[in-house]
Amino acid sequence: MQGCPFCNIIESNSKDVLRAGLAAAFLDKYPVSTGHTLIVPVRHEADFTLLTREEHTAMWVLVSEVVESSRAEHHPDGFNIGVNVGEAAGQTVAHAHMHVVPRYSGDVDDPRGGVRWVVPEKAVYWE
Ligand code: AMP
Ligand code: ZN
Repeated sequence: MQGCPFCNIIESNSKDVLRAGLAAAFLDKYPVSTGHTLIVPVRHEADFTLLTREEHTAMWVLVSEVVESSRAEHHPDGFNIGVNVGEAAGQTVAHAHMHVVPRYSGDVDDPRGGVRWVVPEKAVYWE
């Protein structure tokens, strides 16, 4: 789709884009951690939940590959793997994508809760 940053990346011939059938992966331009990677469907569709089973499968295959290579290259201690679906949920780029965020011990003061922090005032349940 014209004007879509992720379509532009997919359509480029960059060697930095990992391609596997219906999906592609590339490093996030504004990473929250070393190795932060986005997995996208080749087809332009904003809504992750509207992708086909085949697109989801292709994306999960790439998630596994990215996790494996990230482990080998960066030796993270954990990962957050997540999807923002819709503006209300924080999506800022209207081409569906999964975030693979490698995590490193000590990268934040207290990592407990992880993705629960999308609603900060409800994140803590253990006190
Ligand atoms: P979201 O808020 O879930 O839609 O995430 C969008 C992600 O896209 C953010 O993590 C951005 O850092 C990333 N991003 C935005 N523009 C680009 C770009 N041109 N190339 C790669 N990543 C991008
Ligand atoms: Zn697009």
